[in-house]
Amino acid sequence: MVTREKILVHVCCASCSTHVLNLLSARYEPAAFFFNPNIQPEGEYRLRLAETAKVCEALGIPLIEGEYDPGAWDEAIAPWRDLGEKSERCWACYRLRLGAAAAEAARAGTGIFTTTLSVSPHKIHERILIEGEAAARRFGVAFLGEDFKKKDGFRISVEQSRLFRLTRQDYCGCLPSRGEAAGRRR
Ligand code: SF4
Repeated sequence: MVTREKILVHVCCASCSTHVLNLLSARYEPAAFFFNPNIQPEGEYRLRLAETAKVCEALGIPLIEGEYDPGAWDEAIAPWRDLGEKSERCWACYRLRLGAAAAEAARAGTGIFTTTLSVSPHKIHERILIEGEAAARRFGVAFLGEDFKKKDGFRISVEQSRLFRLTRQDYCGCLPSRGEAAGRRR
């Protein structure tokens, strides 16, 4: 039997996880890490977590839930709360989540981690790389900075989400993004 290297995959939501977990399973032995204190209200957080659990169970991948503390997220982004998407608010949000993933990888003795965040065309890959690599240096692990939307990754993840019958999200996750998405729809 071939032994594959373990990798911790920070999962932002079930839809983005489908393609990434499938793809990485061919090269690594992944474990999923759901750490998203940005998601509010709590009912939405529970829904996204339950759908991630469904995907992980189907793929036979273990799922670790990080602490859900929206207060810590509020504190981390406070200076930039009123800025829109793709601003310092989001970079601070990436920083918090990728820092927790790097810490969990170090705690679990997993030498490398990555994130599903780059599947979304709404996320800025260069900033994910900056924050992921900084977090990796802080905790003495490596960061796999693959841009998972490439090679048709986003389209594949949408197709797989349909197969899993996942909920279609209409906002990124935080309360400001919910208000911004509602504004765009109006
Ligand atoms: S829009 Fe998304 S990435 Fe940006 S701060 Fe809100 S939850 Fe985080």
